[in-house]
Amino acid sequence: MQEKIASPKRTMEIINKYNFVIQKRFGQNFLIDLNILEKIVQGAELTEDDVVIEIGPGIGSLTQVLAENAKKVIAIEIDKKLIPILEETLIGYDNITIINEDILKVDLHKLIAQHNEGNKVKVIANLPYYITTPIIMGLFENNIPVDIITVMVQKEVADRMQAKPGKKDYGALSLAVQYYSKPKIVTQVGPNCFIPAPKVGSSVISLKRFDEQAFDVTDPKFLFRLIKAAFSQRRKTLVNSVSNHENLEVSKEQLLQALHEMGLDPRVRGEALTLEQFIELTNCIIN
Ligand code: SAM
Repeated sequence: MQEKIASPKRTMEIINKYNFVIQKRFGQNFLIDLNILEKIVQGAELTEDDVVIEIGPGIGSLTQVLAENAKKVIAIEIDKKLIPILEETLIGYDNITIINEDILKVDLHKLIAQHNEGNKVKVIANLPYYITTPIIMGLFENNIPVDIITVMVQKEVADRMQAKPGKKDYGALSLAVQYYSKPKIVTQVGPNCFIPAPKVGSSVISLKRFDEQAFDVTDPKFLFRLIKAAFSQRRKTLVNSVSNHENLEVSKEQLLQALHEMGLDPRVRGEALTLEQFIELTNCIIN
């Protein structure tokens, strides 16, 4: 086994050797704590049979540990200045493919067909925080064959992803994530586990994607528009924030009728409804 990249000393050596300038705009915070990397591997339930897609390998700290525990790692990095660095820091590992691309532009279906015959992969990443939501929702909505997504995100975002009704963090993101997967917080991570230290706390969260679509919804697009509208004005009742909301042609009467059929209070707020209730409401309105 080679010397680990994830230590303060080795990370600074690499940065200095290449005169690498850390790019804030790419959300670059490199992990320097091996314990956290091990927790990520455990949280992802990684085995030697797994093919992993890593988003944003940076200087290779996590990539190295993934390569030691998985069959294959495909690492997608946007910053072209990191490519020659990765080629050197990960030398000697023959199960890593590095791709210089923007993750939001990669054809992941094609990539997974090439590298894993279209079978499910695991997505693992210390995510660039500025695009956490588009990356995760893109994986879900585009039906990318993933088993578990295990990612480091801003603590506050992880809390929102796994929140339940009645909690202050509960909102459209909680419902979107829980529609597709079962979230679980693996560990919390302090700023001093990174170079440079981010200004916010972080959490590793694993999202186990449901095998089959777990819920029976007549119109999923309508469901998500309804959820968005319901949380657009949190302090208002569901009926007031949703009725005649742009992009959603539902009248006050239709909503009141549906809530009545469901046995819910006409003054209920969106934040009190479970995912199952939002689905029932959708099915009541669209039938
Ligand atoms: N995995 C490394 C680690 O844990 O030390 C680096 C993590 S750093 C938080 C995020 C990485 O994602 C950076 O290397 C950054 O350049 C890369 N990145 C940012 N935007 C990206 C994008 N759109 N597509 C691919 N990689 C991106």
